[in-house]
Amino acid sequence: MKKIGNLNVEDIRNDFPILKQKINGKDLVYFDNAATTQKPNVVIDTISQYYNSYNANIHRGIHTLAEKATAEYELTRNSVKNLLNAPTLEQIIFTRGVTESINLVARSYGGANLKPNDEVIISTLEHHSNIVPWQLICAEKGAILKIIPINDAGEIIFEEYEKLLNHRTKIVSIVHVSNALGTINPVAEIIQKAHQFGAVVMVDGAQSVSHLDVDVQALDVDFFAFSGHKLYAPTGIGILYGKKHLLEAMPPYQGGGEMIQEVTFEKTTYNELPYKFEAGTPNIADTIALRKGIEYVTAIGKQNIALYEDQLLQYCTSKLSDFQDITLVGTAKHKISVCSFSLAGVHPQDIGMILDSEGIAIRTGHHCTQPLMQRLGLVGTARASFSFYNTLDEIDKMCVAMKKVIKMTK
Ligand code: PMP
Repeated sequence: MKKIGNLNVEDIRNDFPILKQKINGKDLVYFDNAATTQKPNVVIDTISQYYNSYNANIHRGIHTLAEKATAEYELTRNSVKNLLNAPTLEQIIFTRGVTESINLVARSYGGANLKPNDEVIISTLEHHSNIVPWQLICAEKGAILKIIPINDAGEIIFEEYEKLLNHRTKIVSIVHVSNALGTINPVAEIIQKAHQFGAVVMVDGAQSVSHLDVDVQALDVDFFAFSGHKLYAPTGIGILYGKKHLLEAMPPYQGGGEMIQEVTFEKTTYNELPYKFEAGTPNIADTIALRKGIEYVTAIGKQNIALYEDQLLQYCTSKLSDFQDITLVGTAKHKISVCSFSLAGVHPQDIGMILDSEGIAIRTGHHCTQPLMQRLGLVGTARASFSFYNTLDEIDKMCVAMKKVIKMTK
């Protein structure tokens, strides 16, 4: 195995049982980490331990199992608070993922604060989950959705963003790192500018928390969301962080058990934060396992991860650039872990299918960013996205397989 940096990738790979298998007779090369990351043993084992030994509903139980389950569940909140450097535990709300977190903010904050002709700003780089919830609430409230344009490298044009801001801007919702192109947005500057106009800023951290350090206080971000499944933890658990005064003033998103203080048929009073936004029995096992994913990543160290993955990205970029017919899509100065590309005259799906026959898992298509693809004039791209368990040898394998793709499709 070619070595880079100071990560012991061989040991790391041993923690991920799924990576040991063969696909179509070839060693699996998993390059679809932007869609979801694989899970280490410690995460998988935590889920079965929960169901094997302390499965119980949380918060209202006084028996031993319920107390243990509640304590473990709440430990994850603490872990997320530390991960994001959030000021208090009440500001960490468990959701199903980024999609639900954005819908919560759009519906609850947007629903309470948007008036006709108010403006919401998003960018051309957004995932559908940071477009559609805003379209829905804007249509309901008569508000207007404004879009920050990008340049051909896939970077937002900051001066155009500044031009869009005005006293009618109420919300800016922006992706931290593009899932389709890997572009890192200058979120600190975006937030600072929005605040000058009194707008709140939501950051979609789906692709950033597993690669970059995120400090919500240093960023001064109003809302921040991420999904556990892109952070080596299970699907079905995500996070919404919010500033306390904003969350306190927001109406509940869903009604039901747990989010109430007292219910009568005449009137219901709501629970305090964060429970006001956590109606119903939550995803207990996966929330507990999220802590293990966070601990796993923290033990490796985000700085080490960033350095290692950057070398994978540089290597892949330079290898793919050697192909005459391949065009790299997304060449931002600041980008991470995503290599999107197209091959002249070949549908991305065909690339994906041929690579799959070689055991290589990439993603092809629009990556839930159809407006971005329209802007780039593409039906989609082929996307290899990296994790710290990937290797230079795997990139070599993909390049060999790309030669086969070219041979078969020309
Ligand atoms: N935003 C970005 C940038 C994403 O990559 C994704 C997942 N592909 C989402 C939002 C939605 O995340 P989830 O499906 O986990 O809710």
